[in-house]
Amino acid sequence: MDVILTGDRPTGKLHLGHYVGSLKRRVELQNSGLYKDIYIMIADAQALTDNADDINKVRNNISEVALDYLSCGLDPKKSNIFIQSQIPELCELSFYYMNLVTVARLQRNPTVKNEIQMRKFNQSIPVGFFTYPISQAADITAFKANIVPVGEDQLPMIEQTREIVRSFNSTYKEVLVEPKAVLPENEYCSRLPGLDGAAKMSKSLGNCIYLSDSANDIKKKVQSMFTDPTHLRVEDPGHTENNPVFIYLDAFCKDEHFAAFLPAYNNLDEMKAHYRRGGLGDGTVKKFLNEILQNELGPIRERREVLAKDLGAIFDMLEQGSIKAREVAAHTLDEVKTAMGINYFKGNSLLK
Ligand code: ATP
Ligand code: MG
Repeated sequence: MDVILTGDRPTGKLHLGHYVGSLKRRVELQNSGLYKDIYIMIADAQALTDNADDINKVRNNISEVALDYLSCGLDPKKSNIFIQSQIPELCELSFYYMNLVTVARLQRNPTVKNEIQMRKFNQSIPVGFFTYPISQAADITAFKANIVPVGEDQLPMIEQTREIVRSFNSTYKEVLVEPKAVLPENEYCSRLPGLDGAAKMSKSLGNCIYLSDSANDIKKKVQSMFTDPTHLRVEDPGHTENNPVFIYLDAFCKDEHFAAFLPAYNNLDEMKAHYRRGGLGDGTVKKFLNEILQNELGPIRERREVLAKDLGAIFDMLEQGSIKAREVAAHTLDEVKTAMGINYFKGNSLLK
């Protein structure tokens, strides 16, 4: 039966990109009841690879991310939520996987390349950051996860994990499971752009609408969004492609939103056609997007406010989840070491 693993770095509260790119899907998969186990990891150790000097940011965001999870519908009775650094077996697995990956292969990983540029590391790349695809392979394989619901930026990571699994299984013994990335069905959701039009909404770029933003913040952020720079006057013909406001509508809008908030159109195609012809102002489009986002995020924010009153319960959930995750990872590590022939004291294997 299928096992899911996925997670997020506690480098900030979760945003709309996480929601459409991964979180919403996880909740659907969780509630489908089709999966044997679901592991959701708060990747604090991975967050430290580019935030070593900002431990408080990472620490403080652990409970924020956990609150975001629960308020979106992840249920600790169905999904095991845990903290990466509390599972030392993951480090040990990474250490052995490191021997199966070349420096050249890591250098070719497009996501690593991109993020190095984005973070302006130049030549000063922390070794931990450079090797994080290997530690990600440890995270996935420790739980024998075969399904990993992620956004598009993670595809090269999953590919690298698959290569490590093949290499391990052929070098030693068939122990590890090859995972498959599962992207959102709606292509616009797999890489939601930033409010500023940057290629990706990202905590590290500060171009986000957060799931915990107040109604007023959401409204202000939508009003300040980048649109089509050639669409100066309402009557000018506009572009809907590469226009973040329309990409967000592609990601969030359903026909029933028109009936509820903008009955002048039946669907998004009609609205886009009007914008392209000219005569539809950005203000109207943004007002409509704001209504949709308020409608989607309002209930999440309300649940979050209630959950935030009992941080003790969040702490207990994370501790229990981490204990359970550690048992599973320890079992895999034991199998890995046996396959490699380094479980020396198990059944006197060194003497045989
Ligand atoms: P950081 O800037 O610290 O890397 P991030 O915003 O990229 O933060 P992550 O924690 O790295 O967030 O990503 C968690 C998950 O959310 C991954 O599966 C990733 O693919 C997905 N994701 C992140 N940003 C987006 C986005 N803009 N659109 C769709 N999916 C996204
Ligand atoms: Mg990221």
